[in-house]
Amino acid sequence: MSNVETTTGGSVTHPLTARSARSAGTRVPVGALEFGGRDFVLIAGPCAVESEAQLARAARMAVRAGAGMLRGGAFKPRTSPYAFQGLGEAALAMLRRQGDTFGLPVVTEVMAVEDIPLVSRHADMLQVGARNMQNYPLLRALGKTQMPVLLKRGLSATIDEWLSAAEYILHAGNSRVVLCERGIRTFETATRNTLDLNAVALVKRLTHLPVIVDPSHGTGRRELVVPLSAAAIAAGADGLIIEVHPEPDKALSDGAQSLDEAALAELTRMLCTLVPAVGRRLSALENVATDGLMEAGRRRIDSLDDLLLALLSERIDIARKLGRDKRTRGLPLRDPEREREVLERIGRRCSGALEGRSAARIFRRIMDETLRAERPAA
Ligand code: PEP
Ligand code: MN
Repeated sequence: MSNVETTTGGSVTHPLTARSARSAGTRVPVGALEFGGRDFVLIAGPCAVESEAQLARAARMAVRAGAGMLRGGAFKPRTSPYAFQGLGEAALAMLRRQGDTFGLPVVTEVMAVEDIPLVSRHADMLQVGARNMQNYPLLRALGKTQMPVLLKRGLSATIDEWLSAAEYILHAGNSRVVLCERGIRTFETATRNTLDLNAVALVKRLTHLPVIVDPSHGTGRRELVVPLSAAAIAAGADGLIIEVHPEPDKALSDGAQSLDEAALAELTRMLCTLVPAVGRRLSALENVATDGLMEAGRRRIDSLDDLLLALLSERIDIARKLGRDKRTRGLPLRDPEREREVLERIGRRCSGALEGRSAARIFRRIMDETLRAERPAA
């Protein structure tokens, strides 16, 4: 059955998750973070917790990349019973320790109803994995808690089935649900799954719940994670969950899709450009404590400086072309009227931490430098 909207705006099949039930959109707080608001939430960490040292290195990578939350599997839902199953309770304790060290809340998967109390004692958010999306006793039991839930879409679940799974949790009394698109099975085998970004744009309209994207499991290939993350932002995602590993070649699970330091730096550069472009904010620094702060802050400043350099260079390039045109038409290079307009516009648009007079000083200087570049070389 499809998600039928009634004439009164309610949904027959998804009365609690439908956008019409809460048109402003649900915000799901986890620690100091919030899903579904202005913040764009980056969750990063290893597929599985393998050791305290591995997790500590991965957490440091996550913080430096601007992540606001740490992921890591303790109970792993593996397709084969012979594959690494996770370190269980020991991994939960490591997640808690490393999360606290870096000031990051922690999300990890819970596979069984009886594990909910244990996992809730250590984690800040509980993940329902793709393979458990239709585990109705688990969904109902999570609905009876007030823990934030990250509900992954099933491997072959329709959007309708996915929303019905969310409906179970809300119906049982817990509306702290964040949906996660993680790729679906299609005829295509060149990638691990097919990341369904249609679903992200559609589900943002059909429901009031925040939606994040997992491009790691969605593609299965490290080199596709940054481009698909960019596409997810454009599609309206409220955040990303990304697998990282200090040494992906040695990972006990999902090494091929885990980002190493270099790939993660590329992700951060992209986020610094695209997240502000869609009117969102990378909130990480507000939440990062002690150890990680200096490194994370400097990494973000370096990325922003790269961006500023690229933008200034583009501005000068355009001005040079205009300068050539002015010369051929015999017009003066300097146009005080235009300069006034530019400064007035900057004054109107200036917001946030940058104060009007500072902005005017910076832009006056930029215009002077641009003018210098417009002049033909002596
Ligand atoms: C995971 O995120 O660790 C995981 C197992 O993902 P999925 O359930 O989407 O396969
Ligand atoms: Mn994984």
